[in-house]
Amino acid sequence: MTRAPRSVDLLDARARAILFLCCSHHVVPCQQCQNTYRLGWVQRLDPAGFACPRCENDLSATVLAHAESCRNLTQES
Ligand SMILES: [Zn+2]
Ligand SMILES: [Zn+2]
Repeated sequence: MTRAPRSVDLLDARARAILFLCCSHHVVPCQQCQNTYRLGWVQRLDPAGFACPRCENDLSATVLAHAESCRNLTQES
């Protein structure tokens, strides 16, 4: 039995709501300034995307990787 990895659409309103409500205390790393930031913080600063609060590096790929491995988003009824 194989389980295809569920892909998460970060532009999906439901996915974003889950990220904001359930993952706000989860942290994502910024490779550029070598720091970690809470998802709630990253999202609040830039509602259109996910940018590093300090260096404005695009964290979309990092957030996506988190979303695809976080139980909050992969657990589906
Ligand atoms: Zn999470
Ligand atoms: Zn940064």
